[in-house]
Amino acid sequence: MSQSKKRVLITGAAGFLGSHLCDRFVKEGYEVIGMDNFITGSYNNIKHLADHPDFRFIEHDVCNHISIEGKLDYILHFASPASPIDYLKIPIQTLKVGSLGTHNCLGLALAKEATILIASTSEIYGDPLVHPQTEDYYGNVNSVGPRGVYDEAKRFQEAITMAYHTFHKVPVRIARIFNTYGPRMRLNDGRVIPAFIGQALRGEDLTVFGDGSQTRSFCFIDDQVEGLYRLLLSKYSQPVNIGNPSEISIRDFASEIISLTGITQKVIYKDLPVNDPLQRRPDISLAKKVLGWEPKVERTIGLQKTYEYFKGLSSEMLHKKEHKSFDDYIKTKKA
Ligand code: NAD
Ligand code: UDP
Repeated sequence: MSQSKKRVLITGAAGFLGSHLCDRFVKEGYEVIGMDNFITGSYNNIKHLADHPDFRFIEHDVCNHISIEGKLDYILHFASPASPIDYLKIPIQTLKVGSLGTHNCLGLALAKEATILIASTSEIYGDPLVHPQTEDYYGNVNSVGPRGVYDEAKRFQEAITMAYHTFHKVPVRIARIFNTYGPRMRLNDGRVIPAFIGQALRGEDLTVFGDGSQTRSFCFIDDQVEGLYRLLLSKYSQPVNIGNPSEISIRDFASEIISLTGITQKVIYKDLPVNDPLQRRPDISLAKKVLGWEPKVERTIGLQKTYEYFKGLSSEMLHKKEHKSFDDYIKTKKA
């Protein structure tokens, strides 16, 4: 690695968003250090970078002290389980990576005089009473509900990041990321897009939770990465929503997947998970103003690319079930 290039540390590098960010920063001519402990990520997501001269990978749990030799210009902290079934399965790890992991990343940013971008989330707004969600809305989160481990970890993450900014003058960027999808999501991570596409490919019925009237707004990965890249290079230190405001009910979304895949299966209805937000759509006026950014990829195009990716996975991956317990999960990851 040469000393003249800008150096960036990306935590959660083996995950969905983190791996796409590694690609983008390598492509932009940065030296990239990817860090991950593989708790929900996969080496497959970054193996194409293994021999790249500007990419280096460190297997490490960011909840433990992080030591990096040499300078660092930027840190992108993306390590955290992100799917509801993941953070329900590993609640303590989720709380720790959002709190202790973020603290370690901020300490590193302070020591290296680096700018840090943290991956916050629309879950900050909980089950929102303001619609669409603007950055000045404080949210409606149940701290002791099943999603509290994720939501409150992310709220703490924002708070400690702002404290490092005001007290230590660390340059910070806070991305409130709304539902993002694309290639390299884990097929069985339980999030609605891999869930529906996986069911379509396996010939199973599509499981809509509740009556399907709850809404989400899905952003394609390429748009998300562009928004995050611009935010990092901006001078804006307050939270910014990054997402696609095109909102759809989950019931209508199931119909879109049925048309896309041409399947003959039907939709079946299951219980709505506790505290599942009933509506979600980002107001992206701020991102348009300060970043000159808005999403460009239509859902039909993004879904087609995502479907092609999942279709290309092996039959073994397609039929792999999620693990019953965290111990099983860890055992398989290490195998
Ligand atoms: P992901 O599960 O695919 O990736 C997360 C990565 O972090 C995984 O590779 C995992 O192994 C790693 N990780 C977790 N804990 C770690 C630890 N203690 N030390 C080192 N690595 C660790 O999830 P994703 O969708 O890529 O999400 C990435 C980030 O973006 C998360 O912080 C998430 O909260 C945030 N986010 C994502 C979305 C979305 O729609 N994808 C929405 C809002 C926020
Ligand atoms: N959902 C669903 N069927 C599934 C998986 C998810 O109806 O098989 C719903 C879920 O209840 C939620 C929405 O799809 O209302 C989005 O869920 P996801 O887990 O993708 O993300 P969330 O936005 O809830 O974090």
